[in-house]
Amino acid sequence: MLVNGQSPRCSKIAMLEVMPLRSLLCCLALVAAPFALAQSVPDSVEGHRAAAKAAAGKDLSGLYAAACPEPAPAGAAAGRGGRGPRPAPPREEWYAEPAKVFDNLYFLGTKVHEAWAVTTSDGIIIIDTLYSYAGEPEIIEGLKKLGLDPKNIKYVVVSHGHGDHHAAAKMLQDEFHPHLIMGPADWDLVERDTRNPMPKRDMIAADGEKLKLGDTTLTLYITPGHTPSTISTLVAVKDNGRAHLAAEWGGTALSPATPIPMLEAYIKSAQRFRDVAVGAGADVIITNHTAFDGALAKIAALKQRKPGDPNPYVVGKQTVQRYLTVAEECGKAMLVEAKARQ
Ligand SMILES: [Zn+2]
Repeated sequence: MLVNGQSPRCSKIAMLEVMPLRSLLCCLALVAAPFALAQSVPDSVEGHRAAAKAAAGKDLSGLYAAACPEPAPAGAAAGRGGRGPRPAPPREEWYAEPAKVFDNLYFLGTKVHEAWAVTTSDGIIIIDTLYSYAGEPEIIEGLKKLGLDPKNIKYVVVSHGHGDHHAAAKMLQDEFHPHLIMGPADWDLVERDTRNPMPKRDMIAADGEKLKLGDTTLTLYITPGHTPSTISTLVAVKDNGRAHLAAEWGGTALSPATPIPMLEAYIKSAQRFRDVAVGAGADVIITNHTAFDGALAKIAALKQRKPGDPNPYVVGKQTVQRYLTVAEECGKAMLVEAKARQ
């Protein structure tokens, strides 16, 4: 069941290092990716921010905003704030329709947060569970609207222990009794969370673990940084029968309050998950906040898709590489900033 999750193959970046100059230029021209020059990034806040911004382009500007936040104005409150149970905002502010994205992957998110259903020959795996107010309308009703039966939920993978991703897990556990999987230290985080319903402790993800259900395998990587044991996931998907590989970077946002050891871990995790994902051929990005990758625009485009049109979710390996380069460079910018504050 468990495999060692070390970087499996030679990464694109490693290949570029040993290429003759002519091939390198040719390759860069084909890829047209400014992030490929990231090796010469000056180790400064401005240098890393510029590299992250270049890698983000327009399509990943939401990711850049979350991982490279500007320093908060003096006197602004830090941290996640708030006490007591989290209130539910009006439905019209957050409700989004569910959508089929691949043959075996379904969007069950709100306008802001994302949950996913992976369908297999032996049941359903849910990735992330939204705030509790959205669990019933988006996940349970969403599955039914898509013609799927929530009773077939066998596993729920929670990317990390923040309320916007774990809060509806308890409801799913109580109603459908799936196995609930989280990273080891994120179980502790959830059990300290007083604002959201607390699920029963269940399965602990191991780094590189293969979660196999029927004909489908997800690979889970422990990628600390946003939280101590964030899970990032690779999901094998099919588009009209054609195989693709989706990558989800499980925890994204950084802030001036992120401690230095967590920033150091985040950088290593981003580098490693980039090598793993690109090395494994990931050409699809899925996220858990719609802003990171313009998910709502992609889902709107899917609705207009005609037979033979490309799937807007198939973004290619270079975009997967750019995505995780944004994370890495933002982590480095935040680290230089944090060290300067010491
Ligand atoms: Zn979070």
